[in-house]
Amino acid sequence: EIGLEGEADNDTDLMPRPPVVTIMGHVDHGKTSLLDALRGTDVVSGEAGGITQHIGAYQVKVATGDIVTFLDTPGHEAFTEMRGRGANVTDIVVLVVAGDDGLKPQSIEAISHTKAAGVPMIVAINKSDKPGSKPQKVREELLQHEVVVEDMGGDVQDVEVSALKKTNLDKLLDAILLQAELLELKANPNRPGEGTVIEAKLDKGRGPVATVLVSRGTVRVGDIFVVGAEWGKVRALVDDRGVQVKEAGPSKPVEVLGLSGTPMAGDVFAVVENEARAREIAAYRASVLQRKRTTQAPA
Ligand code: GDP
Repeated sequence: EIGLEGEADNDTDLMPRPPVVTIMGHVDHGKTSLLDALRGTDVVSGEAGGITQHIGAYQVKVATGDIVTFLDTPGHEAFTEMRGRGANVTDIVVLVVAGDDGLKPQSIEAISHTKAAGVPMIVAINKSDKPGSKPQKVREELLQHEVVVEDMGGDVQDVEVSALKKTNLDKLLDAILLQAELLELKANPNRPGEGTVIEAKLDKGRGPVATVLVSRGTVRVGDIFVVGAEWGKVRALVDDRGVQVKEAGPSKPVEVLGLSGTPMAGDVFAVVENEARAREIAAYRASVLQRKRTTQAPA
């Protein structure tokens, strides 16, 4: 690998950045509903005038001005696949458990993935509007899997919510922001942009499009970059509201236009100094990929 990771940052250059949150949980426990409901709490939408876009992640701004980034590809595949590729983009996992159903195989799987990743967890006990919801039973089941909520003397926050009735979403956001504060998440925004591809596609009208979650630095229109075995010059950046922006800093998800081809989720994105360098790195990576494919091919 050609070193692209760049130098470490001085502490004095680090600035607070929003947390990146992944929602996990058993099928039908309300991941999609919760993601939609949380998105609806954004105080900026409406005034921005953009149209909600599904680009693989979105940001919510709460009344205090704090921002939370949510990956909106629910489910475990994206999380495990990205981790498998070395991309640990998530700071906090919200485990959704339906209060009327309790822990199920995929909930337990989510707990083990989260523990393996060393990422803190918050439990959203969903469907609390249902008469059959038994939050205390959920807490006891969690305990059996060594997830100890605060009520039971542990340090895992749990919040009873209803994605359907939109209750306690503010409490869940508060819990996330509190957890984020404990993590002291920081990044240097004043360096060439770096990030991870969380989604990529070949768009009929716009060509290859990658949603990049910026990890550090700032990505700007006109920047030359390498991403996986592709490269390009940023033609446009489009945020989760469908608004064209000139730049994107740490923890911001943006669609990047102007790629030579379609990269893969989990690929590292990095701004480089010039086109020659970008071509060189991309060509080198393409050859490594080619070699891997040839050696992996069945005889
Ligand atoms: P996912 O598979 O985890 O993404 O779950 P969905 O968000 O698709 O929700 C599964 C079903 O549960 C849908 O029929 C939702 O309307 C319903 N649901 C989700 N959240 C709630 C809730 O808070 N209360 C109730 N009563 N139903 C909910």
